[in-house]
Amino acid sequence: MNFTFNKFYLSLTLLLLLVSINTYAQPLNKITHYQPTRFACYNSANLLRIVIRSYDLNSKPYYLVVNPNTFITENIPAITCKTATLATSELLATPYMRALIHYTSPPYLLDNYGMSHAAQAVNGVFLTIDMCPARKPFETDFFNTLVKLSDKYQQPMPIAVAISGLWIINHPDEFNWLIKQSQENKLQITWINHTFTHVYYRDRPLAENFLLVPHTNASYEILANEKLLLEHGLTPSVFFRFPGLISNETLVLKLRQYSLIPIATNAWLAKDQQAKPGSFILVHGNSNEPEGIKKVLPLLQNLHYHWLPLNAAFEK
Ligand SMILES: [Zn+2]
Repeated sequence: MNFTFNKFYLSLTLLLLLVSINTYAQPLNKITHYQPTRFACYNSANLLRIVIRSYDLNSKPYYLVVNPNTFITENIPAITCKTATLATSELLATPYMRALIHYTSPPYLLDNYGMSHAAQAVNGVFLTIDMCPARKPFETDFFNTLVKLSDKYQQPMPIAVAISGLWIINHPDEFNWLIKQSQENKLQITWINHTFTHVYYRDRPLAENFLLVPHTNASYEILANEKLLLEHGLTPSVFFRFPGLISNETLVLKLRQYSLIPIATNAWLAKDQQAKPGSFILVHGNSNEPEGIKKVLPLLQNLHYHWLPLNAAFEK
């Protein structure tokens, strides 16, 4: 598949390269030939996986695959994946493919399109934390509270972090701290793609803002962000959050083509929406919305709240 890089993205990439020389720790991995794809395969344990990306990791062919029953993704060497001859109807009957089709179907809404709460009755809620580009340091007390909860409950705290590439590039220490908490089993992080640049103009109407800014290269926004995660040894999930929660039909169908499920919210705390069982709670961890953090802290201390990983929101 060819991606057209317009002049804006070329200049942006050059600029980021210059910035990164000064501020950014060297990534662990080199990712090349990064491509969206979709086919079924059996892994080395003979279990069904759906391949959604192919790439070279330090020059070795790899796949990003999803378990179609649990929605969990993995990076595996391509050589360990035996192509499966599966009828399209069988593939479409898997929980993951059913969810992908369902959550990318009409009616298409400009605002908050996507899955906003659990698909089934669950005894718990889901914490989604947006990390849009920002200059400020992140919400240190909030993240430390999440880590302390893992000590209290003796298990990693499940959170879904909607991460943008520019936040990563501007906050290498904080990003590495998050990775460390996950490696030390303090935080169980699902990495939601929140695009690479997350463009936003204060003075533009929503219908021409965020990813709807004319000439935005949505493919680049999606894939460059995933590549950045892979370069740091992380695994992108099959979940995507639209910047500003703003989208249109073309973008939603692009997500379907790229095998990504849009994650909306029904409990944006800073907007006074209340969390209910099954809610996808939305707060900002980038210090851009302290009201949301003020409201989530008491919920985190409330023993009646059970915090669930995002993949538990789906019918299996
Ligand atoms: Zn955002």
